[in-house]
Amino acid sequence: MRDIRCYLCGYRLTVSMRAMSTSCPSCKKAIKIEDVIVKTYIPVIDLQTCGRIKITKRGRVAAKRIQSGDGITCDGVMEGAVETDGDVDFGPKASWKGSTLLSRSIRIAAGAKLIGVVTVPWQRPEPVKKKKTVAKTTTAKKTVTKKTLTKKTTVKKKTAKKTVRKKKR
Ligand SMILES: [Zn+2]
Repeated sequence: MRDIRCYLCGYRLTVSMRAMSTSCPSCKKAIKIEDVIVKTYIPVIDLQTCGRIKITKRGRVAAKRIQSGDGITCDGVMEGAVETDGDVDFGPKASWKGSTLLSRSIRIAAGAKLIGVVTVPWQRPEPVKKKKTVAKTTTAKKTVTKKTLTKKTTVKKKTAKKTVRKKKR
């Protein structure tokens, strides 16, 4: 068995070692688990897997978002925002260009070219539990309404007195 996290919502789940894809019990979406090896040019919107992404010397990924659970090994060209729970390993001829790179750790060989904002070490935020936050907000609202009511009554009395004084002058 293998512990993974959904790259879409951050939910933790356990899958069998042979599984190539599954559907997330939390967000109900299909997620990829198998490793991805890029040997040629692939233009995609999202390159996502809970496994590892490997980009060979002749490989090139042009994506909006690149997400990997286990980490990324890049010896080729990578374009797009990178997000991984694992490590990123750039070889000597590798290049990356994107807005952000988020990873647990990073290794950059001499000669690799990186253009973008790198945040290391990075950890995927835990998913928000909805039930607890709802209970807190309802109790807070009740106390607030009581306070505002008492304030309003005192304010009305004060303003009434002031207007009377002005009329006399
Ligand atoms: Zn999910």
